[in-house]
Amino acid sequence: MLHTPPSAREKYLYLETFGCQMNVSDSEKIVDLLKEIGYRLTQDSSQADLIILNTCSIRSKAEHKVYSQLGRYRELKSLNGDLILGVGGCVAQQEGERLLKKVPYLDIVFGTHNLHLLPEMVRAAETGERSAEVAFIDGEIRLDLFPAVDAGAEVSRFVTVMQGCDNFCAYCIVPHVRGREISRRSADILSEIRGMAKRGTREVTLLGQNVNSYGLKSSGELDFAALLREVARIDGIERIRFTTSHPRDISPGLIACFADLPKLCSHIHLPAQSGSDRILSLMNRGYTRGDYLAKVASLKEARPGIQITGDMIVGFPGENEDDFAQTLQLMEEVDYADLFSFIYSARPGTRAAEFDDELGRREKQERLAMLQSQQRERTQKRGRSFVGTCQQVLVEGNSKRGGQLTGRTSGNRVVNFPGDCTLVGRVVGVRIARAYPNSLLGELI
Ligand code: SF4
Repeated sequence: MLHTPPSAREKYLYLETFGCQMNVSDSEKIVDLLKEIGYRLTQDSSQADLIILNTCSIRSKAEHKVYSQLGRYRELKSLNGDLILGVGGCVAQQEGERLLKKVPYLDIVFGTHNLHLLPEMVRAAETGERSAEVAFIDGEIRLDLFPAVDAGAEVSRFVTVMQGCDNFCAYCIVPHVRGREISRRSADILSEIRGMAKRGTREVTLLGQNVNSYGLKSSGELDFAALLREVARIDGIERIRFTTSHPRDISPGLIACFADLPKLCSHIHLPAQSGSDRILSLMNRGYTRGDYLAKVASLKEARPGIQITGDMIVGFPGENEDDFAQTLQLMEEVDYADLFSFIYSARPGTRAAEFDDELGRREKQERLAMLQSQQRERTQKRGRSFVGTCQQVLVEGNSKRGGQLTGRTSGNRVVNFPGDCTLVGRVVGVRIARAYPNSLLGELI
């Protein structure tokens, strides 16, 4: 009987991504890198020859989820002895070799600076070798390790412009697991975006932990506002977004871009984290409530109708009733289009993990529920305000609901509407007929 040699048959990669957009972008690179050694993406974990979890440790919930998923894949490993199991991202960075010891059926652990080593590690795992690579790589050499994403003619793509963070907010694990801040060369970023535009990309989201400080620590480099102006000159790119912004580093030059660059979308994600000066100072955020509100006012003046979204942490150590009331008040003043809110959870190794955390779980949950219910009303009211208006929508593809297309407004609202796929990649006018909690429904004009 003839057997297909393993090297001649197709190999499948099942990839699970946890957490932020930075991880989504890294996952795109992982797919590209592993394609070069013969792995094709599958949506079915039971078909996989290689399973990779690209992990997040920003909140304890995300971290626990990784361990419970690893438990589930143990069963697949016991059914298929050749299955390779790998963990990357922030949990891998944090745990390193320890993770191989904790999880004896795990084959690969790769850190946030070691994506480029993954093909080699997978090859080694194919011969039964287990390995962990989590060394940080700093300086010029790291700039050459940002794999540019290849392939694909997706309408909307992420482009990493910088990595790491030097801010050390008291609660945040990112500087510990992503390393020091480093900005890519603007020439490389612009050439990557030109290539994407030629392949059909119409919208780019410039990505980094703190994009507003792009270039400030690299001599002779553009600053972020200048980078945006250069991206706006690229033919074929019709929309530009960026995330994430640190309120302290929003410069007048960046605010002016919202007035001057029509391609820059009418949306900014501007995490406040708290509305209380006392808590902001304990968090080491580097701005006051007044600074934050002044920047919001300037943004609204530069781009009337701009949609502002944010993040809020509830129950940070020391947060009292008055601090929490100030957070609710700030939310009302900003009038957020949407808000991501979380209960504070201590991350080992961060400064806040040493703070006394006296507030009980129940009080924290009550505060979160109150904050989320107020924001839900605001978000839904905002959604209803679009009903009857005409919105310019960049069509990204088919909606999950059959027979409809999906896209986003400049303000980042998801819009679904009936239409045919020849419209994908085009900006079309859609009249909004209904508002749902997370999307709008419309019809093509
Ligand atoms: S700015 Fe603060 S919250 Fe954001 S990644 Fe850096 S340390 Fe974390």
